[in-house]
Amino acid sequence: MAKHPVPKKKVSKSRRDIRRAAVSTLTAPTLIKCANCGAQIPPHTVCPSCGYYGGKQILEIEA
Ligand SMILES: [Zn+2]
Repeated sequence: MAKHPVPKKKVSKSRRDIRRAAVSTLTAPTLIKCANCGAQIPPHTVCPSCGYYGGKQILEIEA
């Protein structure tokens, strides 16, 4: 008897690639568009380019 986990069936190339693609969507960086200036920023962060968050200017951005 095998003492370690052994897959019962070989995973097809297509199944393997589908699984890897699913993982990459979870680990890929999520970016949203800033509602004020349209910059690509992570969600729930103050926009570093215009300083807006939730429709208000949070940071003073020096031009
Ligand atoms: Zn912005």
